[in-house]
Amino acid sequence: MGVKKMAKSTPIDERLIAPCGMNCAICSNYLAYVNKLNRSQCAGCRTGNKRCTYLFEKCTGINHSLEGNAKARFCFECDQYPCKEINRMDCRYRQNYKVSIINNLEVIKGNGVGEFADEQYNKSACLKCGGLISVHNKKCFRCDKITKLVEKNGSEKSC
Ligand code: SF4
Ligand code: SF4
Ligand SMILES: [Zn+2]
Repeated sequence: MGVKKMAKSTPIDERLIAPCGMNCAICSNYLAYVNKLNRSQCAGCRTGNKRCTYLFEKCTGINHSLEGNAKARFCFECDQYPCKEINRMDCRYRQNYKVSIINNLEVIKGNGVGEFADEQYNKSACLKCGGLISVHNKKCFRCDKITKLVEKNGSEKSC
């Protein structure tokens, strides 16, 4: 049986697409938050003003002063893009989770955030329940037992 094509309207709120290209909707910390798990939680980058400190604390560009729900801005609008920090984060995500946030940003730039959010839903929806599968542990937070929030691919290499 083929993969079911998901509905046209995405259940991923565009505000959950963070300035760095990360989709907060498939972050384990966000899924722990929406599913009320007694684990480390985050309400999202723009939605909860919880920008990942490992990236934006070091940011010296436009997102350094981004206030939580302010205008949608993405790192590709920054004159320092792609900066050392975003390259480092991209490297970590490619190595650990097989996802490129720089590629995400390029898709957002080319096709718009709405289309990106739709694609993300189609890629990450659980075929059993329609909920979202975490990029960090590849589990559905509704169907699967969550033991670890993060399960990396292979051994960690430095970025
Ligand atoms: S930890 Fe980072 S990626 Fe995860 S929901 Fe929070 S801001 Fe988004
Ligand atoms: S590209 Fe780098 S410096 Fe520019 S906003 Fe993004 S994280 Fe900040
Ligand atoms: Zn599920």
